[in-house]
Amino acid sequence: MAETYRRKMTAYEEVNWQYNKAADLLGIPESYKSIMRNCYRELKVQIPLRRDNGKLEEYFGFRVQHNGARGPYKGGIRYHPSVNLDEVRALASLMTWKTALVDIPFGGAKGGVNCDPHSMTDNELQYLTRTFTRKIDMALGIYRDIPAPDVNTNAKVMAWMMDEYGRKNGFSPAIVTGKPIALGGSQGRESATGLGVCFVAQRACRDYKIPMNGAKVVIQGFGNVGSWAARFLVEAGAKVIAIADAEAGIINNDGLNIPSLLAHVKDKKTIAGFPSADNLPKDNIFGVPCDILIPAALNGVITETTVEPIKTKLIIEGANNPINPHADHILKERGIPVVPDILANAGGVTVSYFEWTQNLQQMYWDEKEVQKKLESKMDRAYTEVWEMAQKHNVPLRMAAFMVAIKRVQEATLLRGV
Ligand code: NAD
Repeated sequence: MAETYRRKMTAYEEVNWQYNKAADLLGIPESYKSIMRNCYRELKVQIPLRRDNGKLEEYFGFRVQHNGARGPYKGGIRYHPSVNLDEVRALASLMTWKTALVDIPFGGAKGGVNCDPHSMTDNELQYLTRTFTRKIDMALGIYRDIPAPDVNTNAKVMAWMMDEYGRKNGFSPAIVTGKPIALGGSQGRESATGLGVCFVAQRACRDYKIPMNGAKVVIQGFGNVGSWAARFLVEAGAKVIAIADAEAGIINNDGLNIPSLLAHVKDKKTIAGFPSADNLPKDNIFGVPCDILIPAALNGVITETTVEPIKTKLIIEGANNPINPHADHILKERGIPVVPDILANAGGVTVSYFEWTQNLQQMYWDEKEVQKKLESKMDRAYTEVWEMAQKHNVPLRMAAFMVAIKRVQEATLLRGV
């Protein structure tokens, strides 16, 4: 391990590190290992933007299609100043393994623009989104590549993408998921990732003998994933005792009142200043002793440095790629189980699949039906990962990659590659 860490890995190298280990455990021949590891198609486009104040700025947008052996490419669009090709490749690869793991008929993709949407007006954001959509249009399609929201994008951005794509290709609600309900979005899509996190947390608590009733939960990130996970976990009997967002951290050992916190965030756009809690430096969030720790903000946050103060019985990865391989190894040595991202946060893409299906058949399901179908998919995936982990005596992350790689390999072979 030390040998490998003489230099810091990039995000894509980190994902491939895990992939290579799992592929080796499965005995995949080198030629297939490489075909399934590398990306199929990578687009980089220039996006000039005239700001409302007349200033001309230049951004770059990316769409990476990693693997389409099992179906159309599927993955979110991220708006963040740090978006770059390596990160998009890493996230696209994770989507391949995630869609295969929950056994939905999609491949893996990801996209993004290196902009700061918080500094933009709605007009600027709409212009940028439409320009980006036009420039990657040739790679999209309802049976080719279907974007969705990710960090700093939402239903509104998806509506603009759908509208722009439709100008050239005709009315096509199935071209994006995570749309507003009024434009063909699915009931239950907004809360799906957080609900999926809660489902797997309940299964893992049973397996690791952690009583959910009164379990102390700590969450990094209170956006879509973190806030919905908090709501569902409290409904399941847990106590969320500490949360951090980009601005601040808060703690209350008796349990934070999540409905009041949601009302506070709706108004203030941050958890900072929430009255019924003590302040906590946001970077100390991982040091709060708890039963369940949920990183649900950004990738690369748990490293060989930040792993040290962690005092928890279980980690559920709400975010994508939050733990680097070095920290993952340290957690394994310390006996702290990790439910990996490709399983834990797969609820979002699973309901995206339900949304796409509903768009294609023009028949819509109610929220109860969506949640029931989601539970069944997550439950099956969790069981398969657990059984693979027991059979090969490997951590859940390795087991999850192994289940997923086997499915992608089977599809690749059947296509005659
Ligand atoms: P979001 O933009 O809604 O929320 C992100 C949250 O992280 C915000 O509360 C923000 O304040 C917080 N944050 C940012 N920087 C931080 C920092 N340095 N310290 C503490 N908190 C910080 O994003 P989201 O949709 O909730 O996505 C979060 C993660 O989950 C990402 O890794 C994303 O790829 C992953 N994910 C999201 C979905 C989904 O359906 N939204 C599905 C699968 C995976």
